[in-house]
Amino acid sequence: MTSPMLDLSSAIDPVKLDKLAETAIKVGLRLAPGQDLLITAPSAALPLVRRLAEHAYKAGAGLVIPFFTDEEMTLARYKFAPDSSFDRAAGWLYEGMGKAFSANTARLAVVGDDPMLLSTQDPAKVSRANKANSMAYQPALEKIAGFDINWNIIAWPGSAWAKQVFPNDAPEQAVRKLADAIFAASRVDRDDPVGAWEQHNAQLHTKTAWLNSQRFAALHFTGPGTDLTVGLADGHEWHGGASTAKNGITCNPNIPTEEVFTTPHAHRVDGYVSSTKPLSYNGTLIDNISVRFEAGKIVEAKASRGEDVLQKVLETDEGASRLGEVALVPHSSPISKSGLLFLNTLFDENAACHIALGQCYAKCFLDGATLTPEQIAAQGGNKSLIHIDWMIGSDQVDIDGIGADGTRVPVFRKGEWA
Ligand code: ZN
Ligand code: ZN
Repeated sequence: MTSPMLDLSSAIDPVKLDKLAETAIKVGLRLAPGQDLLITAPSAALPLVRRLAEHAYKAGAGLVIPFFTDEEMTLARYKFAPDSSFDRAAGWLYEGMGKAFSANTARLAVVGDDPMLLSTQDPAKVSRANKANSMAYQPALEKIAGFDINWNIIAWPGSAWAKQVFPNDAPEQAVRKLADAIFAASRVDRDDPVGAWEQHNAQLHTKTAWLNSQRFAALHFTGPGTDLTVGLADGHEWHGGASTAKNGITCNPNIPTEEVFTTPHAHRVDGYVSSTKPLSYNGTLIDNISVRFEAGKIVEAKASRGEDVLQKVLETDEGASRLGEVALVPHSSPISKSGLLFLNTLFDENAACHIALGQCYAKCFLDGATLTPEQIAAQGGNKSLIHIDWMIGSDQVDIDGIGADGTRVPVFRKGEWA
């Protein structure tokens, strides 16, 4: 037996925790009266999930249904389950989730597990389990990636996660610090978080409106170890902050969020690029990534740490070595200024410009809601079982927008909007 996890939730400010729950329901989901809500969360996040249920019912939720995962139960599988377990996944559960989303159920995911939970497990088993799960998850993921319904992700300061981010602090102090960092990044450390989010969304929308008016054919990134031309998909559209799901509800899928992002062309990315922050992927830290693209595909990939895991990721399927997202985040973003490496994409992707390997977002196309998967592919949208963001921005990176006629417009200089 492993020692039971410490319950350190008393270190978390209950007022701010309640504000986080309220913000997730009112801003993140903008839950509509009568809508059902499905919540996935780590078991330790129960205090937050209870606050979420209360605010959801106050907003008129029909049913709030939680699904919990548990770190100790995940480890028990790696320790005791038969080998055949690692090719299995709960397809029936994900089919049910897909049905719920088809019936307009909203979806809220709470993240907060130990990012290194599986770091000492057999990588082959981890990769088999991930693949089986990704495949089984498709019926649910389609509805989320296709933005059929309003969805939102927020974070819970799990004690093992806190220990990774603040290794030199006592457990309780680490949880308090991580909680405060989550609250600040999520804008719930102020009197009127809902108002603060309205203002923040308006600022992000001025950026997306400008980028959409420019209709760049490509972005050119230059910096130390980087000279990369990212062709943008035909009919791409920039998004950032709140956006409208196919069910008509305008929500903020990520809390926090600082990025504006769109879809690159899966076959028009050329040059080389280096990561500027480590990538935490399923318990492995992949550091100093440098890759070379030819006609959209990664043809060379290196990393100073976790290179074998990176190679495995790239082999997942055909689309895993092509891009599905390019995102712009100024170096002065609040999360970047915090100086913390959260080891969690929800936070770290909002500290720097980034690209994502794998699946694109259908909503990042003009009239994206009406396009078939075939049309999205024809316009350059990538398809994959994975979607993994990694950071390529810093205060030394410049970005030019390149028009269809080859004209160049400065977009970023030294990591800031030009
Ligand atoms: Zn992103
Ligand atoms: Zn992404």
